[in-house]
Amino acid sequence: MHVRRKLVAGNWKMNGTRAALGEIAAIAAAARETAGVDVALCPPFTLIPLAAPRAGGVAIGGQDCHQSPSGAHTGNVSAAMLVEAGAKLVIVGHSERRADQHEEDSLVRAKAEAALAAGLQTIVCVGEVEEERIAGSHVDKVLYQLEHSLPELAREAELVVAYEPVWAIGTGRTATPADAAEMHAAIRAALVARFGDAGERIRILYGGSCNGANAAELFKVDQVDGGLVGGASLTAAQFVPIIEAAARS
Ligand code: PEP
Repeated sequence: MHVRRKLVAGNWKMNGTRAALGEIAAIAAAARETAGVDVALCPPFTLIPLAAPRAGGVAIGGQDCHQSPSGAHTGNVSAAMLVEAGAKLVIVGHSERRADQHEEDSLVRAKAEAALAAGLQTIVCVGEVEEERIAGSHVDKVLYQLEHSLPELAREAELVVAYEPVWAIGTGRTATPADAAEMHAAIRAALVARFGDAGERIRILYGGSCNGANAAELFKVDQVDGGLVGGASLTAAQFVPIIEAAARS
C-alpha cells in the first residue's frame, strides 16, 4: 500500500499582475497552517520571480516550457530559465496548449523530458474531449495520450500526471466521483504496467472545475492524489478551502 501525499496545484493561466501578489502571500500563509498537503501555484511567467520569494512553502511553477535549452524560439522560455526565475515545477501538455498551440503528445514528452532534466517537478496533463466521452472512447484516448506524452524514464518523485477532462475545464461541470474513479484507476494501472513500483508513487491529480464545494468528494476517490485547479486558484478565499479539503482527505 503506497501512501502518496496530496498535491494541490493552482494554474493561473493568463491571469495575474503584480496586484495579485497579495493573494499569493495569503495562500502561502494559509498553506503554512495546513499540514500534510503539498501546495503549488503556477502564475504567468512574469510573476514567477516576484512570487517565489513570497511563497514560503508553496512551490511556484511555470505553465509551460520549451523543449530546447536555448535558441531561436521567439516568445518561449526554457526549463532552465524557469529554474533561474525561482520555479520548482512546470505544467506541460495542458489541454489549452494542446488546442491553442497544437501541441502533440511527442512535443509534450520532449518538454517533460527537458523539465525533468532541469530538475523541475513536472505535471503532465491528459484528458478527453466531450465527444470522446460520449462515444465511450475516453479511457482509450487518455491512455494513448499518457503512453506518448510521458518521458521514458519516470523520476517518480518529480513526475505528476493530471487527468483533466477537457469538457470540465472552466465550464463549472466536474467529473463525477465514479468518472474520476474509473479514469484514475486506469491511469494507475498503466503507470504500474510501464514503470513498475515507481508507477505507484506517481501522483495523479484531478482537474476540471474543482472548487471548495466539490474538492472533498473528489479527493476521497481512490487514486485521486490531489487537484490541478484553474479558476478557483486565483484567490486565497477560493483556493484555501481546496487545500484544506486535500489535507482532510
Ligand atoms: C485547468 O485549467 O487546469 C483547470 C482545471 O481549470 P478550471 O479549474 O478553471 O476548470
